[in-house]
Amino acid sequence: MSIITDEQRQTLLSMVEDVAGPEVREVTIILLTHKGELTDEIIAEELDIKLNQVRKALYKLHDLELATFRRIRDKTTGWFIFYWKLHPEKITSLVKKKQLNVLDKIQARLEYEEGNMFFSCLEEGCERVTFQTAMEQDFICQACEKRLDSFDNTQIVSVLQRKVEQLKKILNIV
Ligand SMILES: [Zn+2]
Repeated sequence: MSIITDEQRQTLLSMVEDVAGPEVREVTIILLTHKGELTDEIIAEELDIKLNQVRKALYKLHDLELATFRRIRDKTTGWFIFYWKLHPEKITSLVKKKQLNVLDKIQARLEYEEGNMFFSCLEEGCERVTFQTAMEQDFICQACEKRLDSFDNTQIVSVLQRKVEQLKKILNIV
């Protein structure tokens, strides 16, 4: 298992918990502390939780490409034994994937903001609408029935642009 920094370790644990839940985090900690391979049974014993729960957690880690396993048939029982190994260094690519995802979403939102004119009654709790919708509603807010005026989204656009720039910098996209 490759060595990871404390920061990577923290990122790994918080991300795993976010995406897959506290149990998966617990399993990850066990795998981190033991370094080599572990069977699901040993993990279940250490955490004092059901084998099924451990397996579920391990498959989640596998889906995230953070863990791999190898299986060996036990000659006496004929059952498969699964040896699990954590690949904590893969957190870096997982984080990158997530950031790319966020970037896509922000860029799509930016396009929407830049590509539309917006109208609003400026009342709190009422929604902004696009020009098309405002026209269909005769420029009357459907919630409070006040007049819809054009809404300046320059600030939203510049916040989004800044976010896009920041993420691109982090991701080394020019
Ligand atoms: Zn309104």
